[in-house]
This record gives sequence, C-alpha cells and structure tokens, in this order.
Amino acid sequence: MSASNSRRTAVRIQALRAGFAKIYGQEPEGVWRAPGRVNLIGEHTDYNLGFVLPFAIDKNALVAVRRRDPQGADPQLLQFASTFGGEQVTSVRLEDLAPGAVPGWAAYPASVAWVLGQQENVELTGFDLLVDSDVPVGSGLSSSHALEVGTIVALNDLLGLQLEKTGMARLTQRAENEFVGAPTGIMDQSASLMSHAEHALFLDCRSLESTAVPLPLEHWNAVVLVIDTRVEHSHIDGGYAARRASCEQAAAALGVASLREISSVPELEGLDPLVKRRARHIVTENRRVLDAVAALRDSDLQEVGRLLYESHESMRDDYEISAPELDVAVQAARSAGAVGARMTGGGFGGSAIALIDRGKIQETSEAVYRAFSRAGFQRPSIFTVSADEGAGRA
Ligand code: ADP
Ligand code: MG
Repeated sequence: MSASNSRRTAVRIQALRAGFAKIYGQEPEGVWRAPGRVNLIGEHTDYNLGFVLPFAIDKNALVAVRRRDPQGADPQLLQFASTFGGEQVTSVRLEDLAPGAVPGWAAYPASVAWVLGQQENVELTGFDLLVDSDVPVGSGLSSSHALEVGTIVALNDLLGLQLEKTGMARLTQRAENEFVGAPTGIMDQSASLMSHAEHALFLDCRSLESTAVPLPLEHWNAVVLVIDTRVEHSHIDGGYAARRASCEQAAAALGVASLREISSVPELEGLDPLVKRRARHIVTENRRVLDAVAALRDSDLQEVGRLLYESHESMRDDYEISAPELDVAVQAARSAGAVGARMTGGGFGGSAIALIDRGKIQETSEAVYRAFSRAGFQRPSIFTVSADEGAGRA
C-alpha cells in the first residue's frame, strides 16, 4: 500500500470506529480490511475449474465488529450497517437467519454468519457490524465479495476459528451461492483473501492451490488503469447463468467433469456451433493465463499486453460478454498506445483495464474520455490501481 493510501486507510479506520460507537454505543472489538480485486486475465474460467490471475487492489471494505454481550440485551441479535446509504441498521436474530430472511445489501455479511452457523463446532454469537468500503459498487471490482471476505476474516478471528484461507474462500462461495442466491465462482473471494502486495495471484480453481506471481508495476514503470464504464453489470439478467449453462453442456457432451480437462481447441469438434464458441473461449483463456504467468516471470510486459488484447477479443467474439462501452474503452486505450487492455470481471458492463506506461496516464485517460463522448456514452470513471495485500486485521 502506498504511503498516502495507508494514511487514507488510517483516517477511514478512525472514522469507522467513531461511527460504530455512535450507532451501537460501544467501540468495535476490531477492524478488518478486505480488498476488491481486478482480474488481470482468466475470465469465466473459475467456474470451469480452470486458471485465473487476479490481484487485490488498493480499494477495500473495512469491517468493524463487536460481539454482543452474552449477559446483555438480545445476545442473539445480528446487526448490520454501512456508511454507504444512511447507516441504517438491518437486524436479524440468529434463529431466524435463513436464505431470504435478510433483505438488501446486508445479505452479504449475513450470508457469512449463516454459513458459519451451519458448520459443526462453530458456536456463533450475535454481533454488531459496520462497514465502510471504497470499492466502487457494481463496477466489476467485487465490492460484494469484499463485504463477505471482511466479515469472514473478522468472525474467524473473533470466534477463534483458525480457518485456512482456502476454507474461507469455499465458505464464502457457499454463502453467496446458497444464501445470496448468486451462482458465482471462487475467484473473487480467493483474490481478496490470498493476494500479496505487488503480486498477482495465480490460482488453480480446481485445487485452490495458489502462487504469487511478481507484478512489480512501479519497477516496470507501468500502471494498471481501471476504466469503469458505469454501465452496471448484473448477474440477475441471466447472461452469466446462460454462459455457465453452455459450459456445462459442452463438458457433458465431451464427457468431462469440467472444461478444465480440455486443453486444445480441436477437441471441441462436433459440439453445437454456439456451445463450441463458448467452450473455445474457456479453453483458449486457460492457455492465456498460463502464458501470462510465464510472461510475468520473464518480465515480458509486451507479451502480457498481447495476451490481454487477445483475451478481450475472445470475450467479445466467442463468449459474447462484452458491451459497446467496454469495446470502445479497449480500442481507445489501444490507439493511445496501451501495452494491453481488456474488459475485466463478469462482463455485460463494469470495467475494463489497460496496462500502460506510467507516463501515459493522462494521455490514455483523455483518449478514452474523448472516445466515450464521441460515442454518446456517459463519462467513465478512470483511476489507477496497485496490487495490494489480501484481507486481514487492519
Ligand atoms: P460488484 O461486486 O461487482 O461491485 P455486485 O452487484 O456483485 O457488484 O455487488 C454490489 C452490491 O454489493 C451492492 O448492490 C450492495 O448490495 C453491496 N455493496 C457493495 N458495497 C457496499 C457498501 N459499501 N455498503 C453496502 N452494500 C454494499
Ligand atoms: Mg459482486
């Protein structure tokens, strides 16, 4: 974390503690930090049990928690508030905690309490929680997982659970799938939990084995620019579920447990043409992740950039999850001389990333603003991110 960013975080932590005391009448027992993430490459490969290469970013959710006094009033109560949207408190009793019982955003932290409550040998208690997050919402940087991960690392510490990071990733995935009702993969939680500063996280989504791959952007005089199109992606629209269904169909037709087991495009011969294109994205994207890891280890940034462009084209043409705004962002960055660029995250909106020379931040940003204005799109939000340390006590 840069010096200015850690100062900013320190200020946010102080304000969070004060806000907590104001709402709940007592100081929190602690504050935990869970970052959002950018996926450098490896899109929609996670639920195909393949490879991904995300990194945690220097934007995070700070989660303050205090267990309720077992002798005090209502020890079984869970209370959730966020500095985002009026600090209103949502509450639920432990015995009422079930999928569908918690409305709105509080379902994310509540889902984690629910999934922990389902574990044998976890003695869940009531608690009060306040979150402050600067991860932009709905931009594909995983603001929702930051809430879940912040909650699970907090409860893991407070309840003395000693869960492994892979265990926490699997539990938050279950929480999200079964309690929130979003059929998402394992990448986002893993990135938030397992990343290391100045490294990307090479993750095998089948075994959850992970390796830190050097991403010393500053040393390379490079920077990752996030171009948030401010077109909200939504998992509820069905595009995401439809892509998952196509992948499952392909795997079933090919007689494999997941597309991870297919390593070359010729093996896809005979599939229905649309299903084949979907599967081809997954097969080629897995290859690109492996190539990107090798390129990063060789400090070959040009090769990484080339793979980013190829990944974008595959998502645009084969997987069809891009959006006009994302294509314009990538094209404008490319014309301005970016080393590489691609849409990142689930697609259908959200953000693109551009890997560029540090000296070209302004030039590239202006080129993107101009291209958006010419196309009649709303002005995107553009900012740089660095590779930060994964979640933990703040
Ligand atoms: P993404 O995870 O890509 O940002 P999602 O649609 O998956 O987008 O999650 C966004 C949702 O997460 C919001 O609609 C809200 O419910 C919740 N959320 C994110 N950040 C906060 C926050 N700071 N306070 C309250 N809820 C939040
Ligand atoms: Mg999300």
